Amino acid sequence: MSPTLREACGVFGVFAPNEDVARITFYGLYALQHRGQESAGIASANGRRLYLRTGMGLVSQVFDEEDLSSLPGHMAIGHTRYSTTGSSLAQNAQPCLIETPNGELALGHNGNIVNAAVLREDLLEQGVAFATGTDSEVIAQLLATAPGVSWEERWSYVMRRLIGAYSLVVLTPHELMAARDPMGNRPLCLGRLDGGWVVASETCALDHLGAEFVREVEPGEVVRITEEGVESFHAAPRKDAFCIFEYIYFARPDSVLGGKLVYPVRMALGAQLAREHPADADIVIGVPDSATAAAVGYSQESGIPFVEGLVKNRYVGRTFIQPDQRIREVGVHLKYNPLPELLEGRRVALIEDSIVRATTTTRVVAMLRKAGAREVHMRITSPPIISPCFFGIDMGTRWELIAGRLNGVDEIRQHIGADTLGYLSVQGMIDAVGKPKDRFCLACFTGNYPVPVPLQMDKLALEAPPGRDRHEFEWTDAVPSIGTRT
Ligand code: SF4
Repeated sequence: MSPTLREACGVFGVFAPNEDVARITFYGLYALQHRGQESAGIASANGRRLYLRTGMGLVSQVFDEEDLSSLPGHMAIGHTRYSTTGSSLAQNAQPCLIETPNGELALGHNGNIVNAAVLREDLLEQGVAFATGTDSEVIAQLLATAPGVSWEERWSYVMRRLIGAYSLVVLTPHELMAARDPMGNRPLCLGRLDGGWVVASETCALDHLGAEFVREVEPGEVVRITEEGVESFHAAPRKDAFCIFEYIYFARPDSVLGGKLVYPVRMALGAQLAREHPADADIVIGVPDSATAAAVGYSQESGIPFVEGLVKNRYVGRTFIQPDQRIREVGVHLKYNPLPELLEGRRVALIEDSIVRATTTTRVVAMLRKAGAREVHMRITSPPIISPCFFGIDMGTRWELIAGRLNGVDEIRQHIGADTLGYLSVQGMIDAVGKPKDRFCLACFTGNYPVPVPLQMDKLALEAPPGRDRHEFEWTDAVPSIGTRT
């Protein structure tokens, strides 16, 4: 998949008296590393105050033993971040911690709030000061200043105002809370760990800790965990719009989403693709790792043998070292290496999960040809991405999306240099996932958004306006100003 399509964040929380909650959170975040590699953070609480450690880089780079031992208490939350709002700066690393009239509050957020700008303005008018540029701090301040005598009333106020995607972990000195937006756009699950509780973006984090999966946090639900026990309430009516891309690409294949293990869902996507777009090919290759399961499914359905013709450097993570010219020319070879002995003279069905800007796809096709492939038949386990995501997935603007910019599948085929190109249909994708269509957000494939989004030219325009450079249109400044003032 294109490295230009990136997940926004992973969140984790634990309530476990007499346990090393900082260490548990570290390993929880370690399992969620695929959801964000820019920064990581942990906040802990001991009933009196909060403690916080954040830093830039991978989870294993941010924390050492000294950091973990400086995070005492019986509950903690953690976060791994890829920035979609706010720059990639240490100060924007989460959890964000704020002082409120009722004490400290820390919050970790996965998703994106589309009306954050107007909410920020409202809060500024009320005299609230902001330390960062993130929409996550807007949520934290909104929660801290929300009217109401109970958390139920405050959360209900907050959920009425927020528009967008949010799976949240929140920590005060006295409680751990987990909340999911009414769309349930991003995943969030609840588990048991010995006598305690854990919440996590994905079930794979529970598995790594030996925790027992209890259930998913429901859309619009808040789960509150204190020394008195667990309570849950619905702060807003659910209006399901789960991000279908979690099944296609974002989530780990060993996670369970909506009661379905992701790996076999990806195999089903590949099998459906083989039925919709058969290929005259000798071998099936998946772009590793995200398209491997789908390639196996395509192979089983078509009877064409699956071959690992591309090897991925599994240790490629995010680096803060800029590549020099020579490394830039090596390009995609840093990530993938083809096996010429397996490819020489073969007709290849190349399975990929999506095409975003097509930069990587074009290079992979050229790389296979250079390694000896006679024909390359590109097959995509999702429909063409024609509209940008406003809910936390960095796809750029519509005019940067190859399927939003070019005219039809054949133009895209020519652009990427493949012999044939086939995309899975929207209905085929839904059938393969095996859940009702109205449960999902499909906006990047259909242009129909589950909540109002701004008609702003920077995200939706087909071209950069005359005289303007596309780099002027950064996501951070593009946060829309649709109103939720009351
Ligand atoms: S627009 Fe696409 S990537 Fe964004 S939430 Fe919806 S389905 Fe997911």
